Amino acid sequence: MKRLVAVAGLALLCSSAQGVEIRADSFFVSPLLAPFVSGTVARCNEDLEKIHPPLKGALQEIIFTTFRQRLTPFAFVSPQHPSTIVFHVSGYSLCALAHEVAHTYEQTISESNLFSWTRLVDTSVSYWGESRWERPQKGFLEEYGAKRCTSDLCSSSFHYHEDIATFVEDIYSGYQRIALADPSDPRYSGKLRLLRAWDFISENQYDSAMTLLGSKREN
Ligand SMILES: [Zn+2]
Repeated sequence: MKRLVAVAGLALLCSSAQGVEIRADSFFVSPLLAPFVSGTVARCNEDLEKIHPPLKGALQEIIFTTFRQRLTPFAFVSPQHPSTIVFHVSGYSLCALAHEVAHTYEQTISESNLFSWTRLVDTSVSYWGESRWERPQKGFLEEYGAKRCTSDLCSSSFHYHEDIATFVEDIYSGYQRIALADPSDPRYSGKLRLLRAWDFISENQYDSAMTLLGSKREN
């Protein structure tokens, strides 16, 4: 009986579309949770269609798990398989998907190109993981974007990953924080220009973001 449920569940919990494999992490998912997981898999499939196609270029697999160890994030790119995103099923949203997909795509951008981004990063900002800024500041959209940005720019420990991912995430959140950013701070428009140049975002998304930022676009 258990095996039958598992086989029936597996069919519900797997999906392959747009070149991306979406699946639940274990062969057996509790029948109580199966409808929730399969509903989330279906939603993820629909959301993938909303993501700017080039941004999905490096993404191969999305795994939903119902098991979470303490301190494990709700969403992350697999350290062993950088083209795989793992979501705890309760942590899924379109914004979270866009954020993680941006991490997978960033790996296709060369280090020398990414150096243009580092020049727009304020390394004096500390992220302590405790509070959330009410408004964007110092070129970051949110405090989480400054995670690990305080390291020495010349050292390999310097990270700008969350800065890039929080910009992409905000675009899929309806530009909520971009609309609150200071248009006189050129770092916001500079970062948006790089996201467009590297094809993280579409022309339409770039235009909308620049309009909301109140910044004149440069041709
Ligand atoms: Zn992230």
